[in-house]
Parts: sequence; C-alpha cells; structure tokens
Amino acid sequence: MLAIRTRRLFDGREMHHDQVVIVEDGRITGVTADVPATVDLGDATLLPGLIDCHVHLAFDAGHDVVGTLELPGLADRMRSAARQHLAAGVTTVRDLGDRDYLALGLGLGPEGPEILSAGPPITTPKGHCWFLGGEAAGEQGVREAVRERAARGVHVIKMMVTGGEMTPGTHSHLVQYGPAELKAAADEAHAHGLPITGHAHCAEGIAHAMEAGFDSIEHCSFFTEDSYVVDYGLIARLAASDVVVSLTAGLAPSPVPPPPRIQQRIAGIAEALRAIRAAGADFVIGTDAGIGPPKPHGVLPYGAEMLVEQGYAPIDVLRSITSVAAGVCRVGERKGRIAPGFDADLLAVAGDPLSDITALRRPLAVFRMGRRAQGTTG
Ligand SMILES: [Zn+2]
Repeated sequence: MLAIRTRRLFDGREMHHDQVVIVEDGRITGVTADVPATVDLGDATLLPGLIDCHVHLAFDAGHDVVGTLELPGLADRMRSAARQHLAAGVTTVRDLGDRDYLALGLGLGPEGPEILSAGPPITTPKGHCWFLGGEAAGEQGVREAVRERAARGVHVIKMMVTGGEMTPGTHSHLVQYGPAELKAAADEAHAHGLPITGHAHCAEGIAHAMEAGFDSIEHCSFFTEDSYVVDYGLIARLAASDVVVSLTAGLAPSPVPPPPRIQQRIAGIAEALRAIRAAGADFVIGTDAGIGPPKPHGVLPYGAEMLVEQGYAPIDVLRSITSVAAGVCRVGERKGRIAPGFDADLLAVAGDPLSDITALRRPLAVFRMGRRAQGTTG
C-alpha cells in the first residue's frame, strides 16, 4: 500500500489541501486526511496523470520526421517516445497518426503511458499523411477504412478533413473530403462505438466536420491560403455544439523555430485560442508531439502554459488535461480523476500550478498504475 501526502491535491475538478491518497494494487482506494503518509512530498501538488489528446509516437521531433519513419527500429523509437511522455507526467497519450498500427502493440505496460491509438489516419489518396498508410476514398471506402480500424482494436478514428503543412501537394486551407464522406465515416465510427476526430485547419473543414457529427476537431486554426481569418460565427456554433476543440498548444524552447508558414500564422493561432476561450467552447489539448523540434514528446506542460498566457483560467486548463481529456478519450470512468476506483496514474509537481502553471514542468514524482516511474525520485 502507498499513502501519498502533498500539501495540495487537484482531483481533476477542484483543488483540496492536506490530503493523503491511498493506492493499492494499481488503483486509488481512498482520499483522506486521517492516515499517516508512506510518501510525504511536502510543498507539492498531486494531480491525476496528464492526458495529451494528440501525439505521434512514430515521429521523432527531429528535422525529417517523415524520412526517419523508414529507418529500422521504429517500434523501439516509439517506446522511447512514450517513456518521454511518462517522465513528463503524461500518463495517457492518444496517438492520432500511427503507422501500421504499431502503437497498438508496443507492450510497455506501466513502463509507459497508457496508449490510445487511432491507427493510420484516414486520408485521401496522396492526401495529408498518406505515407502513414491510411488512404481511402468515397463513402464506401471510408466506411471500410473505419471497419478495418475497429477490427484492429483502435480507440478512436482520425480523419484528415483538410490538407496539412507537412505533406507536399496537400493544402491546409483546402478540404480533402466532401460532407457525404465525412458523415459516412462518422456514422460508421459511432456504429462501432468509437469516437471520431478530424484534422481541420480551415473554416470550411471545421464546419463540415462539425456538421458531420465528429466528436472533436483537431487544430481549428482558421488558415487561409496566405494567412488566417478567425471565423467568430463558426466558433460560436462550435461552442453551442457538443464538439470538443482539441487545441494544438505547446511549444518547447528549441533552437529550431516552427516552419515559416506556421510562424506567419502564430498571431492567428493565438487569436483563435482567445476566441475559442471567450466563446466558452469545450476544449482539450492535443500537442501534436513529435512533429518537429519545438514539439518533443512530453511537451504537454508547455501547452498548458500557452493557454494560460492567452487568458485561460489555470483551473480550466488543469481540468482540460485531466478529467475533460479522459472523457473525450472515453476513459473517463478510470482516468483523469483522483478518487476511489480510479487508476493510480498520478503526477506530483513542486509548488502550486494554479498560481504558477510552469509548476507542471517540475515533476517530483510520476506514478503509473501505482508504480513510481524511473527518474522521478525527488
Ligand atoms: Zn497530428
């Protein structure tokens, strides 16, 4: 049995003080002030392990993430990427761009985060990220692609609604699929009990995904051909809908800046973040960890920081990367909260993240199913 005491405890919803969390057999069995601690972490805050809703374990955050895919040892590199998330306190990751379903079989157990995977994202022939192996066209084609993924045991369906920046010949400001294909994919996913999320950079793609019944939308960055135009009317519709916006927040310090086409749009990305907050839309963070040098695996604490810098309330940000993310990932009955019956995936950080969100970057201890992760022995 473990009994972990910290000065503060964020349970996934609210902050409490001077509680002891009791862990037995990998699960939380009690939260109380009345038992002696076996681990006293002092002036720290205990949180549910964090959840990054959008990562790419197959990408190594280097200069040529697509070329590197072809090198031998991809599964081992993915295991090491997964361990980097865990060391940063990210105990659950949702992989939205796998290759050959590798993320489903890494077999790390409690030595890595829990990995939820979409398999290869569904995309048009030679469309965005076609090299991951998920090309499908037409209503029948996308339905078959969803069925194949469901049979493989994926946890979510990911569909490339628009083009993307990293795939030559595709365009972020243009849609790849028509509304009928999007609706066919969403209906098929839901028939299999799976959520579906869409990669969408332009307003038309965001609107189509929302209208097709997608559960969440990645990026929502409002790119146009040369720049950006934040569509406030569409954001109001998103906020009134059940769709959760997965914000691509988080940039770690890096000598290599983001690509020029992204840099030109940084002001637009920030404006969209502020507009989404002001409209009150439901949100989580999906960092896109792995896609380039400013997006190393484990970058999620920087995403939380970026949202606070853009005016988000720290408590809302903490909820978004714990309990809200668990719900979006359909693991809300066992992840994202500190309460009896939940998995003992826990993160202790020095200080108080409500007064200083950068505290999330200072993990003292990470527990995964009750086991303390290596390298977090503070
Ligand atoms: Zn991505």
